[in-house]
Amino acid sequence: YMKNNGRGHYCYYREELNHYFPNEALMEAHLHRAIELNELMIYFQPQVNLETNKIDSFEALIRWENRKFGMVSPAQFIPIAESSGLIISIGEWVLERVCQYQKEWRECGFKPVRVAVNISPKQFKQKSFVKRISALLKEYAIEPKYLELEITESSMTDLHETTSILKRLKEIGVYVSVDDFGTGYSSLSYLKEYPIDIIKIDQSFIVDIEKDQKNKAIVETIILLAQNLGLEVIAEGVEESGQEQFLRENNCQKVQGYLYNRPLPAKQIVEQYFH
Ligand code: C2E
Ligand code: MG
Ligand code: MG
Ligand code: MG
Repeated sequence: YMKNNGRGHYCYYREELNHYFPNEALMEAHLHRAIELNELMIYFQPQVNLETNKIDSFEALIRWENRKFGMVSPAQFIPIAESSGLIISIGEWVLERVCQYQKEWRECGFKPVRVAVNISPKQFKQKSFVKRISALLKEYAIEPKYLELEITESSMTDLHETTSILKRLKEIGVYVSVDDFGTGYSSLSYLKEYPIDIIKIDQSFIVDIEKDQKNKAIVETIILLAQNLGLEVIAEGVEESGQEQFLRENNCQKVQGYLYNRPLPAKQIVEQYFH
């Protein structure tokens, strides 16, 4: 069906995966060829700074439009990419594409923005990961402060390994955020062990924040926790102005969600934010 993104642009989404892909094996087979067939794209979703009311960063979100089966949600194909190992080449493609966009935008004279890239656990734990990040920054002449890596608690399983990777990333100077914060199974003690910069409050806590007293309490507390630890904090999945109001009152620094924008193709991002 068609979805209006609120600005008169329509994009096609087919959300019932099984209706289109009869099984995961077939999806995996198609996913194998997605890069060479040019079926992958990057969309960007603006992140709004509530202190300045300006957009100073974007999250890069992958999109896959298969010629036969249409748009496939990353929530469906990323887990399959992860379990099949395809995530390594897909994740590499996303990182490089984002760096290319950064270079392109810089050459157009646009003001630099930070772009956050989702990093899957397998990619994060790859031996060459940190070296690859610094090589890409060099190749595309990107200042490290304009790249953010979003990891989840599931990437941070081994204390020793994670500390080593995060320390090396810190030395390079890229930002690291914890995505879907509060939904994993890790203990809070990692917040004092790991050099992370940003907490992303999961959208499941935001969705009914105007009514649900428990979610209110959780979100208030996550914001305070971030502040007290000197971390940046951003709320995901903000769809209503009442939610923004609550987040403002509790001094949440940044917000991201359909209230402001859906993820948009690069062309539209350029038209709306750089001109
Ligand atoms: P995520 O990183 O937590 O991304 C947030 C998801 O919430 C995105 O879904 C975004 O489109 C959606 N979203 C944004 N604002 C709102 C809102 O106001 N309401 C609601 N209901 N949803 C909102 P998307 O793009 O479908 O991505 C789903 C997940 O797939 C991501 O969750 C992330 O875990 C994964 N993913 C996406 N791109 C990549 C990628 O390049 N690499 C990896 N490894 N994973 C990715
Ligand atoms: Mg994310
Ligand atoms: Mg998230
Ligand atoms: Mg998520």
